[in-house]
Amino acid sequence: MAGFYVHIPFCKKACTYCDFHFSTTFEAYREELILALLKEIVSRKAYLQGEVVETIYFGGGTPSLLTQDEITRIIAAIQANFICVPEMEVTLEANPDDIEQNMLTQWKAAGINRLSIGVQSFDDNDLKWMNRAHTSEESIRSIELAKQQGFLVTIDLIYGLPNVSNEEWIINLTKAVDLGPDHISAYCLTVEENTLLDLWTKKGKIARVPEEEQAEQFDVLLDYLENQGYEQYEISNFARDNKYAKHNTNYWRGKTYIGVGPSAHSYNGGKRAWNVSNNQLYIKAWKYGISCLEEEVLTQQDRFNELLMTGLRTKWGVDLVELERILPLESSFMTYIEKAVINEEMIHDSNQIILTKNGRLRADKIASDLFVV
Ligand code: SF4
Repeated sequence: MAGFYVHIPFCKKACTYCDFHFSTTFEAYREELILALLKEIVSRKAYLQGEVVETIYFGGGTPSLLTQDEITRIIAAIQANFICVPEMEVTLEANPDDIEQNMLTQWKAAGINRLSIGVQSFDDNDLKWMNRAHTSEESIRSIELAKQQGFLVTIDLIYGLPNVSNEEWIINLTKAVDLGPDHISAYCLTVEENTLLDLWTKKGKIARVPEEEQAEQFDVLLDYLENQGYEQYEISNFARDNKYAKHNTNYWRGKTYIGVGPSAHSYNGGKRAWNVSNNQLYIKAWKYGISCLEEEVLTQQDRFNELLMTGLRTKWGVDLVELERILPLESSFMTYIEKAVINEEMIHDSNQIILTKNGRLRADKIASDLFVV
């Protein structure tokens, strides 16, 4: 089974912390972008080599700027050129200010069944300095509406924000849980280079939050969501009633996927490919069916390390037999695992290694210690 990612590289305005690929000129280019995406989908119909698509994910940027007609055309092109399961998980990333009754009806009719809502914080002061296009009131309304319309709802939150105490973080989490989303993703604020936030921290306008404080809020997050019945099935992802994100889970478990749109990445098991991160160049190239993809062949070492890194972040862990199919496991590797088991950071159950709650707090370090270099 494979995943299909569609990148919509436009936003209404720039959030101060964001380093994703996007521009704010959608209206001028929307039809040209859609036509280029459709061309790319047709041109790359052989990419998955007959593997069946089980998920489609519209990410961005802000794909909630798309209309029913635009989404319908894209999904129809995917279904016409790839083999798809009848009941696909089809996710749309949506900003709260775009979620209105009529848009929900349109998206549903187009085939969207899961909404990933970019809430980030329920505090308007945070939203202001982040330059988000919505208010906390709009977030609350959008979640309620989306649930009423029967969408699976996941929300994104950010922790480790400047001037937010643990108590305020808990208030944020309480508001989130009270709305009853099926799934919550919570990411730590990072100051990415060349963002406005980067400039502000360098000038001292906003203080960098110390790592220890951010780690504390991560601890608060784990305890709070666990108590509220959300299972942490990936370091940053929590689900109720097994409502795991299938699309992202497939990434973490090393499955293949195709990504279309400017800057979108693809992976077919042996090679990674990516489109040019420039909307004009992308539109120009695919309009004429000319590829603007670059690709790299993954070494055995790359594949080994990637499977280890993404797998250890999940509750399913990593299958040692699968790892050994890529590269032999050294004795030092097995010794490290034995020690991690003794330290109660890992469970080693037949062929599977899985991090415990303690281990998940140091997941990146453990993975990097086990990397083949
Ligand atoms: S809406 Fe999302 S992609 Fe667009 S600027 Fe904000 S964080 Fe970045």
